[in-house]
Amino acid sequence: MNTFDVAIVGLGPTGATLANFCGALGLRTVVFERSTTAYPQPRACHLDAEIARVFQQLGFESQLHDLLTVSAGMEYVAADGARLFTFEGFEREPLLGWHEDYVFIQPELDTMLRDGLARFPCVDVRLGIEADPVADLLEQARFVVACDGASSAIRTQLGIDMRDLGFDERWFVVDVLVNDDAHPLPPIIQQVCDRQRLATFVPSHGRHRRWEFRLADDEHVPDEWRLLEPWGVLPNDAELLRAVVYRFHALEAVRWRVGEATAETRRPIRHLFLFIGASPNTDWLSGSAIALDAKGFVLTGDAAGGDRLSLETSRRGIFAIGDVRAGSVKRVAAAVGEGAQVVAALHGFLTDRRQTLGEVTDVPSLHIPA
Ligand SMILES: Cc1cc2nc3c(=O)[nH]c(=O)nc-3n(C[C@H](O)[C@H](O)[C@H](O)COP(=O)(O)OP(=O)(O)OC[C@H]3O[C@@H](n4cnc5c(N)ncnc54)[C@H](O)[C@@H]3O)c2cc1C
Repeated sequence: MNTFDVAIVGLGPTGATLANFCGALGLRTVVFERSTTAYPQPRACHLDAEIARVFQQLGFESQLHDLLTVSAGMEYVAADGARLFTFEGFEREPLLGWHEDYVFIQPELDTMLRDGLARFPCVDVRLGIEADPVADLLEQARFVVACDGASSAIRTQLGIDMRDLGFDERWFVVDVLVNDDAHPLPPIIQQVCDRQRLATFVPSHGRHRRWEFRLADDEHVPDEWRLLEPWGVLPNDAELLRAVVYRFHALEAVRWRVGEATAETRRPIRHLFLFIGASPNTDWLSGSAIALDAKGFVLTGDAAGGDRLSLETSRRGIFAIGDVRAGSVKRVAAAVGEGAQVVAALHGFLTDRRQTLGEVTDVPSLHIPA
């Protein structure tokens, strides 16, 4: 018999969120994480209302008020800083009880999620421990969930590949903590459309400010302070946290196998929904009586019918989440949020069927200790 229901590999934001949900559901869970503390450098610095809701559901509301700053939105500017346009459709009113966009410092949020696990005796967190191979993990738990980040060793072990489409860009990420008396910086996220040097600026939480600068393929890594000088930021004005070059890649296709099966499924990237120029791949729903909007995105909730549950389509019991859904914000964090949110709707649906049809379905309940 397995000692655990779930084995989670990796305690970044993905694994830590999952572990908190498993704990709240009372699942016997083991988490393997090779580091002993949350990754100390700021990486992600933006999240939205739906993620805030997920964290709220996990009992973190009071901490969030200290860890999040409402974002003023985003604008596209020319090389001289003049506004070209603002981000279309940016919703500034609070949504779902939270504002549409927040900035934050990832190590602080990661620490919040890790610390939250102490509430759950059923979650066994093993820090500083490299996970065993997948086959061994499956001896210990009924389910294994790989949350081991972009360079996942589990993906390699399972032979799941990623193919580089050839899109390959170098960006120089510079993070600083600005001094209180430093030259004022824009209060809004800026995408700088300078053909000499594309750049992104993020006024993050507290004193944290982030720049990302596009580098030419053969360009030597520039001096970060020289890049910050036009923004009025000099070495005496800020503490440098990080100046690192990252590469962006694009995916062509994904392939997978189910369990021990030898047969592989391969799907080209068009099965994913891209934010810019998105074209929904919903032809296969024709004849299913699932209502779509004029562009082919799936209607849900009120838009799908008067008495539909949140995220439920025009057909009872069928739900749609993420980019395929009409009206979703088409961003990864929001899509992940819908993945968590739909659980509540499924719960309601199953409970209703149990009450009205007498179906015997075990509906586990979330339990978040105070
Ligand atoms: C510069 C930068 C800017 C970014 N900005 C944004 C942003 O604004 N918004 C956004 O949404 N995202 C952003 N991201 C991406 C975001 O940081 C990642 O998507 C997120 O951290 C992924 O979380 P994860 O839990 O999947 O992986 P990770 O955070 O990488 O965590 C994986 C964990 O698994 C552990 N691990 C790996 N292998 C093993 C093993 N064999 N055994 C035990 N433990 C293991 C690692 O130690 C690590 O703690 C940014 C990333 C970078 C680098």
